Amino acid sequence: MHEIDIAQRIVDLCLDTLDTLAQEDPHTPTSRVKTVKIRVGILSSVVPQALENAFPQACAEFEMMQDARLEIETVSARGQCPQHGELELDLNKGICCPVCNKPILELICGEELELDEIECE
Ligand SMILES: [Zn+2]
Repeated sequence: MHEIDIAQRIVDLCLDTLDTLAQEDPHTPTSRVKTVKIRVGILSSVVPQALENAFPQACAEFEMMQDARLEIETVSARGQCPQHGELELDLNKGICCPVCNKPILELICGEELELDEIECE
């Protein structure tokens, strides 16, 4: 996926979220967004640097987003091995247990692309 599309999706999500917040509580300060924090899984195929570069472009057309800064938290991949339980995966070895090399059937995290926090002023 192109990072500009993802950046636009994040901006849309922010605007939606702020809209909902403003409806729930009219006193929520939602005039200008300062920081947008997202969580990006290491398996999500998003390139954080490219996303950071694309973000201002996606924000440009929305006044309340124009000064927003994107903070990306990278989430490592964790999976469930039937034998060894929950483990952090070594992606150099692929999606398999780093201990016994069996394929991981159940990923716990690593694929997410989530909005974590929006800071407004
Ligand atoms: Zn194992």
